[in-house]
Formats: sequence, structure tokens, C-alpha cells
Amino acid sequence: MRDYKLVVLGAGGVGKSCLTVQFVQGVYMDTYDPTIEDSYRKTMEVDSKMFDLEILDTAGVAQFTAMRELYIKSGMGFLLVYSVTDRQSLEELIELREQVLRIKDSSKVPMVLVGNKADLLEERVISVEEGISMSSQWGKVPFYETSALLRSNVDEVFVDLVRQIIRNEMEN
Ligand code: GDP
Ligand code: MG
Repeated sequence: MRDYKLVVLGAGGVGKSCLTVQFVQGVYMDTYDPTIEDSYRKTMEVDSKMFDLEILDTAGVAQFTAMRELYIKSGMGFLLVYSVTDRQSLEELIELREQVLRIKDSSKVPMVLVGNKADLLEERVISVEEGISMSSQWGKVPFYETSALLRSNVDEVFVDLVRQIIRNEMEN
């Protein structure tokens, strides 16, 4: 079985942990602790093949650390998560993505742009169009809006990432 390392990146509070736990355990766990960094395992079938996923739910994007460099190096696919209720969180992804591309030393790194908290209609400050526009600027990086709360598009994001890694491996 293939072992794929995925890394969940984004500003504090955007829902990285909720998305990860919703994907891995199928529950919405609202125990916000921005300092918790943990890794999870899940076996998933994609296109009738089984994959063993190791998912690193990161915390603290503020400073560049040796740790961060290490896990970006070993990561094979990246979820770049912002919250549709937080403009700053989308802006932080620009630098994060550059960090990933620099460390991986490649322009073809499997990644997905994720706008989370899509269920918060009243608090939304970032439109779907802005997400699409960011994804085009990044060379059509696949873009999804998700809700960890409603479990919407959660599996889709991970399946997309796994398919990109498969494709990436075949090309290299
Ligand atoms: P992290 O710092 O990126 O890991 O953020 P968390 O996953 O801990 O989530 C931060 C806060 O946002 C928590 O209080 C969650 O309840 C809330 N949250 C996360 N995902 C969603 C979502 O999809 N919808 C809504 N309404 N709230 C969310
Ligand atoms: Mg977290």
C-alpha cells in the first residue's frame, strides 16, 4: 500500500484541525487549541487503490522554523487553508505557498487551495470568485470551499490531493 504524507497549512483558527479530524474521524470536534500540532493516519480508497495517508495538522505559521522546513520537505501534498471569514488568512497563504515551492524546489507540488467555514454566510468576507482568482494566479491550483462543520467537500479535497500525488509520481 502506498504511503502518502499530507500537510495541512494555514493561519491559526481557519479550521485546519477541524477539517483534519472531520476527514479522519468523521466528527466535528470544536476544541480549539491553536498550539496543537498532531499527525493522523487514515486509509483511503482512491480510484480502486488503497492509500495509507499520514496527515500532519500543523500549528503556528508565524515564524519560519527548522521544524517547518523538515515537514515541508517530507510532505508530498499540501492543503493550503484559509477561512472565508478572514481576509488576512488568505493573504498569509501567498507567503506559505512560496515557502513550500522554495523548499520543495519545484513548481509542480501537489496542493489544494481550501476556503473553509463556507457555512458562515453572514460572516463571509471572501467571495468564491476571489478564491477562484487566487487559484488561477497560482496556475490553476484546485480550489474548494469547505465546511468542516457540515462536512462539505472535506473528502473531495483529500481525494483531489491524492490524485495529484499519483499523477506527480507517474511524471517523475
Ligand atoms: P486551526 O487553528 O486552523 O486548527 O483551527 P481549528 O480547526 O481549531 O478551528 C478554529 C475555530 O473555527 C474552532 O472554534 C472551530 O469551531 C471553528 N471552525 C472550524 N471549521 C469550521 C467550519 O467549517 N465552520 C464553522 N462555522 N466553524 C469552523
Ligand atoms: Mg489546529
